[in-house]
Amino acid sequence: MKENIIIYNSLSRKKEVLKPIVENYIGMYVCGPTVYGDPHLGHARPAITFDIVFRYLKWCGFKVRYVRNITDAGHLENDADEGEDKIAKKARIEELEPMEVAQYYTQSYHQAMNLLNCLPPSIEPRATGHIIEQIEMVQKIMSNGFAYEKNGSVYLDVNKYNKQFPYGTLSGRNLEDTLSGTRELDSQSEKKSPVDFAIWKKASKEHIMQWPSPWGNGFPGWHMECSAMSEKYLGKTFDIHGGGMDLVFPHHEAEITQSNACNNCNPVNYWMHNNMVTIDGKKMGKSLGNFINLEEFFTGKHEKLDKAYSPMTIRFFMLQAHYRSVLDFSSAALSASEKGFNKLMEAKKVLSNVKFVQKNINTELDSQIVNLIEACYKHMNDDFNTPQTIATLFELVSIVNTCNNANSFGEISKETFIYLQKTMNGFILDVLGLDNLDSQSNDKSAQLVELMLSIRNEAKNNKNYALSDQIRNQLNEMGITIKDGKEGTTYSIT
Ligand code: ZN
Repeated sequence: MKENIIIYNSLSRKKEVLKPIVENYIGMYVCGPTVYGDPHLGHARPAITFDIVFRYLKWCGFKVRYVRNITDAGHLENDADEGEDKIAKKARIEELEPMEVAQYYTQSYHQAMNLLNCLPPSIEPRATGHIIEQIEMVQKIMSNGFAYEKNGSVYLDVNKYNKQFPYGTLSGRNLEDTLSGTRELDSQSEKKSPVDFAIWKKASKEHIMQWPSPWGNGFPGWHMECSAMSEKYLGKTFDIHGGGMDLVFPHHEAEITQSNACNNCNPVNYWMHNNMVTIDGKKMGKSLGNFINLEEFFTGKHEKLDKAYSPMTIRFFMLQAHYRSVLDFSSAALSASEKGFNKLMEAKKVLSNVKFVQKNINTELDSQIVNLIEACYKHMNDDFNTPQTIATLFELVSIVNTCNNANSFGEISKETFIYLQKTMNGFILDVLGLDNLDSQSNDKSAQLVELMLSIRNEAKNNKNYALSDQIRNQLNEMGITIKDGKEGTTYSIT
């Protein structure tokens, strides 16, 4: 199967057959989160997209080294060269050490990804753990003549680079487009040209995250970490680089520029980008009031949601759209997904429990099943088309249900029956990563806590404060904290 995997390459804007650099091995780098806020759908989509790529490639027999970074320094506001470091800003507001902020949100990211059943990457490097590698790369780019120092900052000289390498190949933005898109005023800038970008920034005295370098104290430009860490763990050229579409420019364009300028070779063979998430047809944004973080989905505590949705429902919903399509969330669509997910898991259970007794073989049914199984592979091989794969699995679900009702599994050959069991189980659990065990127990505990809260409310209404306090205190001892607010009672589990 693995000879036929086709990937849409954002660089060539074409579907291409996956040809690994080293046979049977795949190196994949994916841009991870900047850890300064609660994990939300914008984190979940790339994590799930590349979890599917990771899982399917492994299922097909590849050995995959999957590297996904944690950005804990260098990412400035507005993704620009000027402005405050996102993590340092949060640390200042919350009066915490920047590393406390990074640690806290790294943990909550891990917890959420775990609930979504995303496998951990093989290596998860942090920007602050690779300052030396980034400084070395800046030095090499300078000695190759593609960067210059100005007042303690180092800038990549894009005009000079463009004479030797074509600039803008990934984003399709040439230098003129980039120039017209920049808001910087020439006279105020240290840069030779507004298209140049910082690969090392001088730190002001107040800047709390800074490191010594040959150019004085400073910090790396945001794009540097991915170039330095991907090279360190995957080599100068590797197979797949992934991330959200919003990273194509400037981040990924800058990565290509830096790596070419440093190593004089193309860093990545296949660029993959997942599309955006919208809510009720609108872009997600804090100012629009439709910003829902993952915990709010899991608990249902958001005015846009009519109830809680299990992590598996969210995962299943995401997989029902192709990763290159825009994904629109709404309560109605999520409810439909929840039903579909349960139906799929029910059929899997039925199939696992069947006692197979061979009867006369219905060859038409037999070959129909074999064809559908092969179609599952065909769809996954076609740029990881999960919606088509799921649609095909549902065709198998209706056959499973019909055979179960008519007690007619014996009408297919034993060999096909085992193939069917293996494929349904393997695709649902290992390839798509759908597993309802956790979500069921989570759903049940959520329902139990809700039940306790309604008993407590009733006790309060009856002025039975002894009972209502007892419930609150005992839940508290179990690590369930209750908060009474204007909008009713909420709880959090620690
Ligand atoms: Zn990156």
